[in-house]
Amino acid sequence: AREIRLKSRPVGMPEAANFEVVTVELKDPGPGEVLVRNGWMSVDPYMRGRMYDRPSYVPPFALGEALQGGAVGTVVKSNDPNFAAGDLVESNLGWREAFVSTGAPLTKLAGGVPPQAYLGVLGMPGMTAYTSFHRIGDPKPGNVVFVSGAGGAVGSTVCQIAKIRECTVVASAGSDEKLDWLKSVGVDEVVNYKKGNLLENVRKAAPKGIDIYFDNVGGEHLEVALEVARPWARFIECGMISVYNDKEPSPGPRNMPYIVGKRIKMQGFIVFDFIDMREQFITEMTQWVKDGRIKWQETIENGIENAPKAFLTLFSGGNAGKMLVKLD
Ligand code: NDP
Repeated sequence: AREIRLKSRPVGMPEAANFEVVTVELKDPGPGEVLVRNGWMSVDPYMRGRMYDRPSYVPPFALGEALQGGAVGTVVKSNDPNFAAGDLVESNLGWREAFVSTGAPLTKLAGGVPPQAYLGVLGMPGMTAYTSFHRIGDPKPGNVVFVSGAGGAVGSTVCQIAKIRECTVVASAGSDEKLDWLKSVGVDEVVNYKKGNLLENVRKAAPKGIDIYFDNVGGEHLEVALEVARPWARFIECGMISVYNDKEPSPGPRNMPYIVGKRIKMQGFIVFDFIDMREQFITEMTQWVKDGRIKWQETIENGIENAPKAFLTLFSGGNAGKMLVKLD
């Protein structure tokens, strides 16, 4: 089976040469072990952070080892009584076509939805959107919610949850196609951040200001959000993809003093901080998906050898919705 390893640590924007495809021999599963063949793999922006050799909330990726990323696969052979051949499982054991592992790090999936949904709306990005929007955002009907990175996996889910919670939603993304899709699922106002002046356009889209900012992007978007925030606004600091590849730290928003006068509450988080909400998330999100109240887009690269390309796409905005790799 093939796997993708980190060959060298990227400096600035990652390149294909930072990765390598390696074929490895799979041993037969031993006592308590299972053999899994992956069908879908996830590429996620946070993985960029793990390519730096620096202390963080998760250890850095090791050079010469398979990159740890989310995957959904099928059990082929099992010596663990908790799993049987044919079970659909989620793992975070690496960009691998197949692997042998003990059962412990695997999660059995219920099925009944397309399997790749467990890497998107019903997986880590969906959980990120659902938990932080409720816990940090504390949404009230009628609130104005500004979402950056709104065309992606997390952002597009946040937009739709905010509509379910009877908020007005202003979405920013980098292409008109993404914005058209967002309008088609109920988003009220859209802004293409690549066209014109961002502050002016957000002011036009949210003339009365915003109560909640869901930040996927950082940088100029964060500065604009501080500018248009109403008193007592909540800022959900989910990610700052615009600076992940910076070689030097970029300057912070120039208007930070607004945090004081506007009594802004700003909180970062990592999705597993809200693990206590997991059951509630799965129950409610599954129902919303079945009822057609939450929709999603996905962008697919085929074959494990294209996983690095899929990963790089996240930084050029080539993905509409969840970026996935489909394995042979
Ligand atoms: P997305 O599906 O949103 O893909 C990334 C998108 O970011 C691209 O499609 C692109 O869209 C946009 N983007 C890339 N570069 C820039 C830039 N310089 N300025 C503005 N937009 C840019 O990824 P995810 O939904 O998986 O993740 C979204 C965010 O959430 C990321 O910041 C990620 O790190 C964070 N995250 C945080 C978690 C947590 O626990 N805190 C967990 C999961 C994700 P466009 O066409 O609009 O430019």
